[in-house]
Amino acid sequence: MTRVVKVCRSCGREKLLTHHGVNCSVCLARIKRHGDAHQYAIRPNHLEPYLRIVQRVRERNVHLNWDAIHSRWDVVVNHAKDFLAEWRAGKAIISYHRSGAEAIVTLSEKVDAKDVIDTAIAMYLMDEFEPNRFQSFVAFKTQLVRAIRKLDKGNLTRHRSKHQQGQTSTLNELHPHSVEYIASLIVPTLGVVGAHVAKLERTKEEKEREEKNAMYAELDKLV
Ligand SMILES: [Zn+2]
Repeated sequence: MTRVVKVCRSCGREKLLTHHGVNCSVCLARIKRHGDAHQYAIRPNHLEPYLRIVQRVRERNVHLNWDAIHSRWDVVVNHAKDFLAEWRAGKAIISYHRSGAEAIVTLSEKVDAKDVIDTAIAMYLMDEFEPNRFQSFVAFKTQLVRAIRKLDKGNLTRHRSKHQQGQTSTLNELHPHSVEYIASLIVPTLGVVGAHVAKLERTKEEKEREEKNAMYAELDKLV
């Protein structure tokens, strides 16, 4: 295929692109993997503080019917199972969607619903408290799916790290259309829970900050 020197729309560098290409190969790979050319991967240490918040939310709210909340994941899994059953019965479906549905069912067999829910809430908390973390809604949804898929170690390939000693692991990639399909199921179901908890935590944090500021304002009056 003929390639010409053009400016990549995402990184602004001059690269050899195909006649119709608008992104260089590096940016295109990032868009496919991360949902945006400027989106970086969410690492376990990024998510950890938010998983700790989720743990505290659970400890403060033991009275909640957590089983009912976990069942949101069952809704996703059952939808994927029904979809696959229709395909087995002969219905024509998009193969990328089938891969997405299979990924959901496999995940449900390996990972507890609690861990899926906790990870989803943690991702929504991260989005709420770090507005610049995600470059776009597509990037957020892509990272949400990645974070949930990473809960199954079977989706990870371990290899020697180039930059650090020891081993690192990379997620076995799904096609972006499969990721999009998974996101289309989990955002309306788990997102309701995640976004609600994130909003409540934000309100709680703002209230605590206002109370602290009020206390300091009082202390400033000390003579
Ligand atoms: Zn580029």
